[in-house]
Amino acid sequence: MGALKDTGPDGEAFWEKPLAELTDEQWEALCDGCGQCCTHKLEDADTGEIYPTNVSCKLLDVTTARCTNYAHRKAFVPDCLQLTRETAGDLPWLPDTCAYRLRAHGKPLPEWHYLISGDRGAVHRAGVSVAGKVISEDEAGPIEAHVQIDGYVLMDAPGDDDDGDFFL
Ligand code: SF4
Ligand code: SF4
Repeated sequence: MGALKDTGPDGEAFWEKPLAELTDEQWEALCDGCGQCCTHKLEDADTGEIYPTNVSCKLLDVTTARCTNYAHRKAFVPDCLQLTRETAGDLPWLPDTCAYRLRAHGKPLPEWHYLISGDRGAVHRAGVSVAGKVISEDEAGPIEAHVQIDGYVLMDAPGDDDDGDFFL
């Protein structure tokens, strides 16, 4: 991705520009590859609180945290949400580390972001990506068993197979 590091004659780093000024290619390049937006969330219907799970979309490669068919994902996952320059700052389920969220609020990219570090693996070593931490929805079973709440570890119900597939 080195060719994307300079925007042109002024040498300005494109990731420091307002989102509205990015080309489509630059917009796509802003993603840090963490995969956090590709996990399912549950919303409390009464309070609106959102709970993360360790269950990923079926198209996510759980070992790399990358979408396995990004170009044609809508054909397989119609509800895959397309982030836009207008909505990126207002989606409560996006992680605080999301490059789109950060830039929408005028904040700099973190030092581990590959556009800063030049290292695609830094997001994993920083503990930000979901690589190796999630299970595909194709294998997870009931999603309610995979809600992640700080300080709590859900136990298998009596009679369930204890296959130990829940992990924080
Ligand atoms: S949370 Fe943001 S930075 Fe991470 S994969 Fe999703 S869009 Fe990219
Ligand atoms: S279709 Fe791809 S980009 Fe969309 S949520 Fe699934 S893995 Fe992520």
